[in-house]
Amino acid sequence: MQEKIKLYLVGFLATILVVFILFVVFSNLFPNSTFLNQTALVLKINPKTYSSEKSCPKPIKGKVFDDYFLANVSPKLSVPFDYVPDDLIKIEKSIKTSGFICLRKDTEENLYNMFMDGKKDGLILSVTSGFRRFEVQESILKATKAWKGDEAYKSVALPGHSEHQLGVAVDLSGKSVNYASTVYAFGNVPEGKWLVENSYKYGFILSYPKGKESITGYIYEPWHFRYVGVSFAKELFDSEKTIVEYLAEKKL
Ligand SMILES: [Zn+2]
Repeated sequence: MQEKIKLYLVGFLATILVVFILFVVFSNLFPNSTFLNQTALVLKINPKTYSSEKSCPKPIKGKVFDDYFLANVSPKLSVPFDYVPDDLIKIEKSIKTSGFICLRKDTEENLYNMFMDGKKDGLILSVTSGFRRFEVQESILKATKAWKGDEAYKSVALPGHSEHQLGVAVDLSGKSVNYASTVYAFGNVPEGKWLVENSYKYGFILSYPKGKESITGYIYEPWHFRYVGVSFAKELFDSEKTIVEYLAEKKL
């Protein structure tokens, strides 16, 4: 009987070893695999702050904030750590999302119109991230830092410094990239190209364009769009400036 238990134990350990070896081999074969990166990130993010929310958060009772709709958040500028917009709503059911995502009301409505018009042009878009509270941003930064070291600061904002905390920023994806989150390929597929040309009509702009890294402080992010309102987005699109420069000039 004891021999049998020993045999089971050896078999069990051998299976774990084989799975581990396969994982290491797979990781090395595909070092930039989105699947592995996303899996690693999701595993490291505290699920309590990321996936357990069932309704959109509200500001703490009695707490009144300034209007941060056009806040010039950047690596240098931030909003209060406990800032939560007071009009967050869940993204419309017919929009494809990765999990539970909230946005400010105007942002959500214009996003919906943009997605519907994209659909008329044969494009299926999706949202992989929207509003993120301070603690979630903290978790994402921590996880990315564990994985990428200080390089993390070039793609993930410090808590309080993220456009995502404003409830007006979205990370977008589409069918052509299999709805993968935050992938560079998105800039080269029809959905990503369409957004660059058309998103301003719905009040959205690409926050971190290619070649502007030294101005924005972040690497090129073809997936990250921010809602600034239709007229402001048109001004910004025509100016060919980044939102960081434009808001600084306007002193908004
Ligand atoms: Zn983003």
